Formats: sequence, structure tokens, C-alpha cells
Amino acid sequence: MSNKLSLNNQILLGVVAGAILGFWFMTLGRESQTTQSGLYVAKLVGALFTDLLRMVLIPLVFTSIVVGVANLRLHRQMNRVWQVALIFFVSTMALAVLVGLTAANILQPGSGLQITMFQDAMQDFRVTQMSLSDFFAHFLHSLFQNPIAALAQGNVLAVVIFALLLGIALVVGGERYRNILILMQEFLELILMLVGWIMRLAPFGIMALVLQLVAAQDTGLLETLFKFVAIVLGITLLHGIVVLPLILYLTTGITPFKFWRGGREALITAFATSSSAATLPVTLRCAEQHLHVKRDVAGFVIPLGATMNMDGTALYEAIAALFIANLVGMELSLSQQMIVFLTAMLAAIGAPGIPSAGMVTMAVVLQSVGLPVEAIAILLPVDRILDTVRTMVNVEGDLIGSLVVQKWVKQADSNQ
Ligand code: ASP
Repeated sequence: MSNKLSLNNQILLGVVAGAILGFWFMTLGRESQTTQSGLYVAKLVGALFTDLLRMVLIPLVFTSIVVGVANLRLHRQMNRVWQVALIFFVSTMALAVLVGLTAANILQPGSGLQITMFQDAMQDFRVTQMSLSDFFAHFLHSLFQNPIAALAQGNVLAVVIFALLLGIALVVGGERYRNILILMQEFLELILMLVGWIMRLAPFGIMALVLQLVAAQDTGLLETLFKFVAIVLGITLLHGIVVLPLILYLTTGITPFKFWRGGREALITAFATSSSAATLPVTLRCAEQHLHVKRDVAGFVIPLGATMNMDGTALYEAIAALFIANLVGMELSLSQQMIVFLTAMLAAIGAPGIPSAGMVTMAVVLQSVGLPVEAIAILLPVDRILDTVRTMVNVEGDLIGSLVVQKWVKQADSNQ
């Protein structure tokens, strides 16, 4: 216990040290030799940490889903788990978009700015046109892939689907395939042991990532977009600090403080890496070891959530669409806002858990209501900072989802 506690504190210390060093490098300026050497080392250490997490990601997702699904089916809980998980994912994302749209309508993030102020940035931007039908076709196509290719390319969603089917087949196949299931279970244990080792590097990795984040901030641009950045951060945090914890408390009785204590390793890693996928090994570890979610439930809900449950991203896509509408002087009608509501959710579901993925899928939202896709270029320079908090809220949604699913499944069991 004392060991775990000290790792948590070391990680917090890493965040503080990274912020202080990053700020120091920022004041020294990019030309300074100290800054350049410091940033070079930080880049190496930060990349090492995220590479190590990505190294275990695919084997971990594969084994945890196969084992989770097989065990859930064995205990006849599979249907309930996936149904509750999907209901939770969709309803919390809808709530996030609603919060985002309401806030953007009240606070009007683009007021006072004009699109012409950003003409230069938009000229250099190569537009990726993505209509809703293209996006849907592409998404469907990425679901089913040759498993070897999916494993090698790190296509998490396709790995999730294949593992899901294999897990079901293992149970349908029965006793004959018991050995494969045992093999998978033991392999999963081994990968989790590796995750434990990688986490020893977390304080340094997170320090290096936070340092780069702070040192790279362009304060001039932040000033121009200050209102937008403040609104996005404020509303995302409102969803993460008030809405989601309230849902958790009302459904499970777990207090926000207890949740933070159990989930902070994952939340801080998500903040620093801006990637739900890279954070997944840590999220699973927190769910099982600190928040005591059963391995079968966590092993299924967390990888699925990391690929499709993105409250922070959904909320951001909605606010950004309204911001851009304000910039171009277009008033979105209620029916257009309904379209934004639906496409923002789809864009979040379709976004992979990697840095700035939401910026790519945002093209779908903008195009659906006739807003200029080039305007994404305006948001790119501030995306690194916005991605930190939205990824953190994305991961928080997955952790809370696993707790809520566990509670409901248990309750339904005891009612039988
Ligand atoms: N970076 C986010 C994530 O990994 C996705 C996004 O860009 O919104 O969860």
C-alpha cells in the first residue's frame, strides 16, 4: 500500500516539477542552449514512456477482451454488461454535447473575433473533406480487419472486435478450448506485470511530457483565442468535475475524492499523453487494482470505452462548431444545432484515442452544417493544450463507466 501511495505522490511531483521546468525554459526562450538541451532530454524520456505504454497496448487489449468476454459469457452476464456499457457511453456523451452546446449558446465563444484575422493560417491548411457518408463507410470498414494486420498496425477498434468474437467462440466451443482460455489468462497476468514495471517510469515520463507542454505554449496565440480556450477548458472541467462524478455518486455511492484517489494515475497520464489509447494500460490497472472493478468487467468496458466513449471530445466538437459559426457570422438554427449534436457524438465515437484525433473528425461536424472545414486550422495551434483536459475527461468517462456497469450488473444479479 505504501508503495502504491508513493508512486502516486511521485507522479504528482513529476507534474509539478515538469510545469516548473517547462515554465523556466519558456522564460529562457527557445534559442537558449539550456532550453534546447532540456527539451531534447524531455522529448527522449517522454517518448520512451509513451512508446513503452504503446508496446503493451495491443497484447493487453486483445487478452483482456478475450478473457473478459469469455468469463462474462460463462457467468451469463455478457448481455447485461454490453447493454449497460453502451447505454452509459451514449447517454453520457449526449449529456456532454448538451452541456457544450448550452454553454456555447450562452457564452458565445467567437464573439469579437472575425475569420479574416486567421486568413494566413487557413491558407496553409490542407483540407480533408469528410462527408458523413464517407466517414460512416470508413468507420464501418475499419471495424473488421485481418487480425494480424490489425494487431501489427495497432488498430485498437479492429482488435477489440476480433477479440470479442474470439472470446464468444471460446465459450460456445466449451470445454475443448479451456486450455486456450487459461493461456490467455496467464498471458494477461504477464502483460499486467509489465505495465507495473513501466509505471515505475511514469513520474519521469509524465514530468517530461508536462515540461514539453508548458514550454511549447505560444502565449501570443493563446491571448487571441483566450476566451475560446477558457470556455472549452472550463466547460470540459465542469463535465469532468461535476457532471460525471455526480452520476458516479448517484449510481454507486462512490465519492469524488475516493474516485480521484483510485483513478489519478490514469487521469494524470491521460492529461500528459493526450492519448486514451496510450493511457489504456494505466486505466485498466487503476480500474482493477485501485477502484476494485472486477477484471472481467474492466477488461471489457475499458478497452471498448477507450475507443468509443469520449465525452471530452464530443463536448469539444460541439463548442468548436459553434465557435466557428460565430467567426463566419453564421447563426445556427435549432435544427442545425441538432445536426451538430448528432455529428459531434458520431465524430467522438469514430475518433481514435490518439492526440488531436478529434481535430480530424471535426471535419464531419463542420461539413454537416456547411461550415468551412479550413477553419480547423485556427484551432490547431491551441489543440495541444485543449487535448490534455479533454483526453483526461475521456478516460474519466471510461473509469466511471466500468464502475457503473459493475454496480448495475451486481444489482441485477442480486435481484434475480
Ligand atoms: N486525444 C483524445 C483521446 O485520445 C482524442 C481527441 O483528440 O479528442 O482521447
